[in-house]
Amino acid sequence: MTIAQLMQEQQVDALSLPLAPASLPMHVIIDRIITPEFWPCAACGCLGVTARVLDTEEGPRWLDLCWDHGMNVHQPSPGMPMTMEGIVAGLRAAAEAVGARLAILNDDDSRGDSHGRAGSLPPHG
Ligand SMILES: [Zn+2]
Repeated sequence: MTIAQLMQEQQVDALSLPLAPASLPMHVIIDRIITPEFWPCAACGCLGVTARVLDTEEGPRWLDLCWDHGMNVHQPSPGMPMTMEGIVAGLRAAAEAVGARLAILNDDDSRGDSHGRAGSLPPHG
């Protein structure tokens, strides 16, 4: 879903969003996300945990979104794996590249086996 689609679906008026400074460095956006101040999600009013700046006809505006609405408009980076198998393959390749051991646990593994040992997916290859 695009931001425009989310805003239309949730009937968010861009001009009702808080004014944002023009030309923000990334650290200012990160500061807004990590500040203890409550920035409501523009779509649902819940705690905003993501922030971005929209260019509107009346200048830049903050678009704060909660986790769910933020993820709804999240666009994966080019080449980013979209399946669990692809993510695991990427993790294995990264571990191999740096010579690190990798154990991937799932929810069942975290409970451990009957001997109290955590399990892991079998090694690749
Ligand atoms: Zn929301």
